[in-house]
Amino acid sequence: LYDLELIKVGKIYDNGTPAVVDFDLAVVKGEFIAFLGPSGCGKTTTLRMIAGFEQISSGTIRVRGSAINDLPPERRPTSMIFQNYALFPHMTVRRNIGYGLEVKGLSAKQRAAKVDHLLATLSLEDVADKRPDKLSGGQRQRIALARGLAVEPEILLLDEPLGALDANLRKTIQAELKILQKTLGITFVFVTHAQSEALSLSDRIVVMNQGRIEQISPPHQLYTRP
Ligand code: ADP
Ligand code: ADP
Repeated sequence: LYDLELIKVGKIYDNGTPAVVDFDLAVVKGEFIAFLGPSGCGKTTTLRMIAGFEQISSGTIRVRGSAINDLPPERRPTSMIFQNYALFPHMTVRRNIGYGLEVKGLSAKQRAAKVDHLLATLSLEDVADKRPDKLSGGQRQRIALARGLAVEPEILLLDEPLGALDANLRKTIQAELKILQKTLGITFVFVTHAQSEALSLSDRIVVMNQGRIEQISPPHQLYTRP
């Protein structure tokens, strides 16, 4: 049984733009998938359709065999991490991380246990009571990761999460993402236009161009003909 399947998924925006065409992909649990391709090729649209932020125009998206096409984002087993972190500036780090759990109605005590664990996992204990705008880009992205993981998603969707970081931090967070993949055993779908990121992070790379999949290859076969 696949963890995530996209079957002939397509997206045509209201203005007629065919952003994604016949997207077919099957992902096993724990796999790290990268969507790689130039700006405008449909990576983010595909990710947003999996998250439920964008309606699909055709096809089916399944998680563990069940179609999720009609579920709203909050009822999908996914979390999305954005390039610009999308943190709440007026809330502390702790509250930002626990926000999704608050929405789900967990008690303060239940939230605290999970949040403390994530603060430790992502080395954020020292900044737990600060506000995100006082913190570095790397810390902010760790907070966003912790917030996404707090709701225990089956699938973590990452939209160019390293794009706003400098080269050193990018390496650090890359390494942390690999550790999270190994320890959590959840599925990662990662959007990037940087080949180096796709090569060093992913188990398979989906190369996209003008809304279509050009090839799907493990990193060591990216430059080999099938
Ligand atoms: P990428 O993430 O690879 O940069 P996108 O998925 O953002 O690509 O965009 C794919 C195509 O869809 C582009 O032609 C883009 O201009 C178009 N597009 C994206 N969002 C919208 C939208 N909300 N309305 C209309 N067209 C859009
Ligand atoms: P990215 O390349 O990272 O996908 P963009 O800068 O292309 O980001 O898009 C930023 C936002 O604008 C997204 O929400 C996207 O859906 C929207 N967008 C992109 N292209 C169009 C378009 N042609 N018409 C309307 N909205 C668009």
